[in-house]
Amino acid sequence: MTTHPRSPAAGLQGARCRGCSVAVYPADAACPRCGGPAEPAVLKSAGTLWTWTVQRYAPKSPPYQPPPGGFEPFAVGYVELDEGVRVAALLEVDDLDAIRIGMPLTVRAGDGVPRARPTTAAEENS
Ligand SMILES: [Zn+2]
Repeated sequence: MTTHPRSPAAGLQGARCRGCSVAVYPADAACPRCGGPAEPAVLKSAGTLWTWTVQRYAPKSPPYQPPPGGFEPFAVGYVELDEGVRVAALLEVDDLDAIRIGMPLTVRAGDGVPRARPTTAAEENS
């Protein structure tokens, strides 16, 4: 494995229950459904937007680090992965007005927080 674990292309590091196969995020040693042991696993990246909002003012710093160009409003939301677990993520969209609940998203591990971007048609068909 040459992929750096914090690379933007990396899948989300979570866990999966050995007994009932439920996905767990953030990773936990115990399954939230059956209490059985869960093992570290990279979660599948496909999901849909469950709910979202726009952060219109700079969060407290630290831990927030404003980008070099200064703060700009950004969208955050919960992405419901196809595996069933909801993940809080930054929404990487070009147009905040184009965000819709239920839109297909692809989630990646980001630098500190997961990031989600609209799923392309090619990815949807794969
Ligand atoms: Zn379980």
